[in-house]
Amino acid sequence: MTQHPTIELKHLDNLWFQVTGTLCNIACAHCFNNSGPNVKTFGFLTIERVREELEVAARLGVKEVAFTGGEPFLHPQLLEMLELSLTYAPTTVLTNGTLLSDRVADRLAEIERNARCSLEIRISLDGYTEEMNDAIRGPGVFRKALAATRRLSERGLLPLITIVRTWGDDEEFPTLAGFVRVLQQAGYSRPRIKVLPSLPLGRELIRTRQQDESTLTEEMLEGFDRDLLMCSNSRIVTDRGVWVCPLLVEMPDARRGATLREAASGYELHHHACTACYHYGTICSNVSAQIEGIGLAERKP
Ligand code: SF4
Ligand code: SF4
Repeated sequence: MTQHPTIELKHLDNLWFQVTGTLCNIACAHCFNNSGPNVKTFGFLTIERVREELEVAARLGVKEVAFTGGEPFLHPQLLEMLELSLTYAPTTVLTNGTLLSDRVADRLAEIERNARCSLEIRISLDGYTEEMNDAIRGPGVFRKALAATRRLSERGLLPLITIVRTWGDDEEFPTLAGFVRVLQQAGYSRPRIKVLPSLPLGRELIRTRQQDESTLTEEMLEGFDRDLLMCSNSRIVTDRGVWVCPLLVEMPDARRGATLREAASGYELHHHACTACYHYGTICSNVSAQIEGIGLAERKP
């Protein structure tokens, strides 16, 4: 039987909140946690729960907090939660950008101005053109997301645009430089962009009909910096407990406990999504200098 490596939580650097569970206003063809309209596999977190876990995380020395979903801006108290979180640590919100009205952008700018920590807004897209993106995310999403980047940048907020690479190396598509021009024409003058790999999880497995079930072995991690894996430094709070990382919330065995205090136990990396982490590294971090197509494992000396 294959011996899979186990990763212990060395230090809680990053705390995630799956704040709207799996409820999203759109249903992307590659969504790794199968979110969408009326999908209630996971539910909303209350602001009291967020406060309790932030208190615990602060005592454990948390360095960054992130809010995800589903679509976080569907939560009626998200803005209050961001304000609260920014009193503890730098905070990121991951959004599809379709609900960022002028009113919301005004409040975000106000929150950012008054906060002692930095607020990062990540807007997800799936292609460099409307055609590429909306084939995955649905009609009209590209334009709405671009309008959100303009609204935010006009208010001095510089969102990080993340793009999941859903096309192959041999396919011809407009370049990253072309995409930068599209963003600039839409009113985002100095865009920040990060290209991510697609993950063999959720709807992406069905979309691509992937058969790759490869898993990690102890030998593969020899000489590999295990701190690069989120599970060594992160946990995600959901309404149904605390999971080892945002990528595996659909896997019952990745639940570590009911609360953050109970969720420190290590995790055996037996899922094939762990192999994607090994190849592509800290895909959930805000580092924007991602190099397309070069995985961490390939970069090892
Ligand atoms: S990928 Fe994001 S925006 Fe798309 S359905 Fe999933 S949660 Fe919603
Ligand atoms: S998917 Fe990645 S972060 Fe999650 S447990 Fe596996 S290796 Fe760790």
